[in-house]
Amino acid sequence: MTAAWIGLGANLGDARSAFDAALSQLDAHPQISVLARSDLYQTAPVGQLAGNAFLNAVCRVETSLAPLELLDMLQSIEKQLGRQRGVQWGPRTLDLDLLFFGEQLIESPRLTVPHPGAWYRRFVLDPLIEIAPNWKHPLFQVSLFELRNCLQARPLQIVLTPHWSALCEASHDQIASLFPGIKLVAENSPCLTEDRATRSLWLRLLSDDWSATVAAHAKIPSQLTADLTASPGEPLEKVLDFLTALHDEPQRLDCDP
Ligand code: AMP
Repeated sequence: MTAAWIGLGANLGDARSAFDAALSQLDAHPQISVLARSDLYQTAPVGQLAGNAFLNAVCRVETSLAPLELLDMLQSIEKQLGRQRGVQWGPRTLDLDLLFFGEQLIESPRLTVPHPGAWYRRFVLDPLIEIAPNWKHPLFQVSLFELRNCLQARPLQIVLTPHWSALCEASHDQIASLFPGIKLVAENSPCLTEDRATRSLWLRLLSDDWSATVAAHAKIPSQLTADLTASPGEPLEKVLDFLTALHDEPQRLDCDP
């Protein structure tokens, strides 16, 4: 049996009922047991076309299925509960993501595990730390609690390498008004030397493919990476979506309607 974590999200229709139905279907499978579920969280929509605020939650299951079999099951539940794949990152009745599958690292055309957004998306991290605060991200070996704490710093200082600086400078006012908790600092800024020992995230543009590496957090020695290639839109939209997910402060809701 392997422990796996699944993220649930929706912003169309009755999200609570969709989550309940999804969890019942998972638990009804002979090779899956749902062992824990988080409360619901109201979160910021990520993506220009995403629509209204989302509801998110996570659950922990135990399963004897293989990872791709579990993904098949998640996709069939999404389909049954009415998800239509239209606009990429558009509004949705139910989105199910496989966040972690034990400590396995999986990179295949249909499946990447840990889910690449799991370490910086507050809509995933906040519900996760409710049920698994000490679970270590298998790739970065940092606990989910530590990851979330590092994103909670205000101002959240993000150090930009020259490529990012050029992109963000052009939209500085837009970024400042959208993300009041984020302070963008150029890599060669004099204040950076003094601030090195404090909380800082480094966004690094690796190449033309708009991958981003976030590294050198004072308390987190590992390199944290975010590949933005899969997210839709122009480079600036990708960056704005990335910042939206890490700057958001999800609101925990009571699970009972
Ligand atoms: P989305 O529409 O954002 O839910 O993305 C679904 C697509 O991502 C499907 O084609 C999946 O095969 C793929 N995918 C890759 N890794 C994962 C994962 N860890 N969890 C769910 N879907 C994944």
